[in-house]
Amino acid sequence: MLASKLYSPTLREIPADAEIVSHQYMLKAGLIRKSGGGLYSFLPLGRRVELKIEAIIREEMNNIGAQEIMMPIVQPAEIWHESGRWNAYGPEMFKLEDRHGSQFCLGPTHEELITTLVRNELRSYKQMPVTLWQMQNKYRDEIRPRFGLMRSREFVMKDGYSFDVDEEGLHKSYQDEYDAYTRVFTRCGLEFKQVEADSGQIGGNHSHEFMALAQAGEAEIVSCSQCDYAADIEKATAPTLEMAAETAKDVELIETPNCATIEDLAQFLSIPLEKTIKAVAFTIDGEKTVLCMVRGDHSVNDVAVQNFVGGNAIEPATEDELKAHGLQPGYMSPIDADKPDNETFFILVDPSAMAVPNGVTGANKAGYHYQNVNPSRDFKDVSIVSIRTMVEGDACPQCGAPIHVVRGIEVGQVFELGTKYSEALHATFLDQNGKAKPYVMGCYGIGVTRTIAAAIEQFHDEHGIMWPVAIAPFEVAVVPVSTKDQDQVRIAEELYKGLQDTKTDVLLDDRNERAGVKFNDADLIGYPVRVTVGKKSASDGTVEIKVRRTGQEEVVPVDNAVARVQEILADLRSKNM
Ligand code: ATP
Ligand code: MG
Repeated sequence: MLASKLYSPTLREIPADAEIVSHQYMLKAGLIRKSGGGLYSFLPLGRRVELKIEAIIREEMNNIGAQEIMMPIVQPAEIWHESGRWNAYGPEMFKLEDRHGSQFCLGPTHEELITTLVRNELRSYKQMPVTLWQMQNKYRDEIRPRFGLMRSREFVMKDGYSFDVDEEGLHKSYQDEYDAYTRVFTRCGLEFKQVEADSGQIGGNHSHEFMALAQAGEAEIVSCSQCDYAADIEKATAPTLEMAAETAKDVELIETPNCATIEDLAQFLSIPLEKTIKAVAFTIDGEKTVLCMVRGDHSVNDVAVQNFVGGNAIEPATEDELKAHGLQPGYMSPIDADKPDNETFFILVDPSAMAVPNGVTGANKAGYHYQNVNPSRDFKDVSIVSIRTMVEGDACPQCGAPIHVVRGIEVGQVFELGTKYSEALHATFLDQNGKAKPYVMGCYGIGVTRTIAAAIEQFHDEHGIMWPVAIAPFEVAVVPVSTKDQDQVRIAEELYKGLQDTKTDVLLDDRNERAGVKFNDADLIGYPVRVTVGKKSASDGTVEIKVRRTGQEEVVPVDNAVARVQEILADLRSKNM
């Protein structure tokens, strides 16, 4: 490719709404352009990166015998009604109607479609196991599309689905995908971790997420300092923290003016935060009110709450709703509140909150709290459920060593779905005894476009992107310092052809621009290797080779340059750099 012909408009200034590095550099280097909120067009350089990631995925899917298909983006509403997810999926689903008034959605995922696709034709155990997958645009009307490709409303996902005759088969299909994903992200050069995950909206019981470690990530991961335990913080069950025993005193009502927050309260009473028990309330699907009690220094893991209570959409409870259950916002506790019926009103208390002796909690009366509260004596009819979020230094659930909390970008997730969709959609096969059984399914997703953003978050400096070779838009840029110098032009062209002949993905920067501009663009776009042809190339017969990732520079004879570039690329590739 000749740079003079490449459509890659770069920007001087980064648009103000681009908050994170990957979004900024993708705009600045001319990889993508915004076409609407959470909607992006890919320009040639961005598209090349995407296609390279897709090619790696395709190879690894072929390696495990998964077969590529393509399903429609537009999906009929009926199949979602059948599975019960038409409403359950919530406002994230883009819905539309055709001219006849029939309803459709733009696929946010394809469990319904694939299950109904195969249900009448995948009929016998003899045809199984089978895994089918596609590379396709997905649509989610995210509540907060942001960070460019990281959380967009249209994005490319590789989604795959396995069909097995039993759980044992599913475990194998799952493991194959898990291993393939591990190879995909390794080959893409990412630093990542596989973590135990909650199955969430999709359903099922066993799941892992592939997390690219990065500060800009929206997910939090707990990871053990000693053993291999790693989990999404939403999935991790925090240990119960005991406190030194005290003789239980009598409950007292105390006036606590101007104590809007739990910190104010602890300060007002001169007690440590952990001697307070704080309340957080949610509403689930607008039908269930849930009062959650955790220790003052802890926070509530709403996924744990939802896993216990059930339902789909979890939101903060409204004042009216709270008052209807005898709860005074700002001063809530189970004491003097309605008794939970565990259908429309729940009270969940975290075990570490249960362990607080002579603690302080709300009195359901504005401006008042109770002190000397001992939950096992004073909280009536509550459900004791682990609902607090783990924090740095908590004991690892597996080995007891302290855990770390780090941030990550979810680039992929694998699920064992079991029979959730096949049962709902009456999708069965005949087993060896001629008996109809529901498929045992797994589903597997990779955020292809999010992976591009994740790679940039991990590999960049103040000058621009530092692509791993495997996914770089071009592997090598040959840059003649002056296009007015015929010798430089000739040598650069020879090197360019020589590299093309060795199947190197090479770009020749033949633009009539100042050397500084070309070097800046090369650093910004992030070609892994730059070969500079300057004055000395003609006089001494040497060129300079620079490795973007390491900053390493060397001067080599022109005659050796092609071979040396090959060596460097091979070395980088072998290190997944
Ligand atoms: P998240 O928790 O980040 O919203 P998810 O768990 O809902 O993601 P999945 O249903 O597991 O996503 O989809 C598979 C993959 O698709 C994710 O692992 C992620 O990499 C990618 N993905 C999901 N939502 C988006 C989005 N809005 N923009 C870009 N990629 C996305
Ligand atoms: Mg996910």
